[in-house]
Amino acid sequence: MPQLLDPATRCRICFAESEEEHRLCAECWHQREERGHFPDLKLASAFPYHGAARSLLRFYKFSGRQHLAPALSSLLLLQLLELRWPWPDQITWVPSPLLKRWSRGWEPTRLLAEELALLINRPSRRLLSAQMGHPSQSRLGKQARQDPSRQNRFSWLASVAGETILLIDDVATTGATIQACTEQLYLAGAFRVYALTLCRD
Ligand SMILES: [Zn+2]
Repeated sequence: MPQLLDPATRCRICFAESEEEHRLCAECWHQREERGHFPDLKLASAFPYHGAARSLLRFYKFSGRQHLAPALSSLLLLQLLELRWPWPDQITWVPSPLLKRWSRGWEPTRLLAEELALLINRPSRRLLSAQMGHPSQSRLGKQARQDPSRQNRFSWLASVAGETILLIDDVATTGATIQACTEQLYLAGAFRVYALTLCRD
């Protein structure tokens, strides 16, 4: 069983490794002033994206092992308890584009969110849609993924006025996808958005 990432050693905005306890990484420190009207991102992950956690996640996603979702979601729950975030009103997930959902026949992030919702007895709901016509993040280089023009791929679907939302994804790399989804949820009226991913690349 891989060891959970320790939130105390991570940036409290983007969860990158941080030298000082409960501090911001240099990048978040500099970006903070530019972000303007949105609250700070709140992102955390359960495991580093290598070793057993990476193999398990890839097996789940790419070999259609949907039956692994409850186990993976209980690992998300373990980290959620460590983080001591407020309990959300709703849980949602980073959506896959429609074409991908059709071709794959299921949505791995949705299943993770739904299983976690069952564990903590909160509703889960599709709150975001992914716009078509953008290349998949995984096919882009790290530089391209950081390009702000690629971050507007999502749009909100329903008002979540005043609600605390927990956003689930499988892997965070630069955090750009999480940032884009979080901003959409704030545009939909969210009071606070917390994002938890299974792995951090
Ligand atoms: Zn940071």
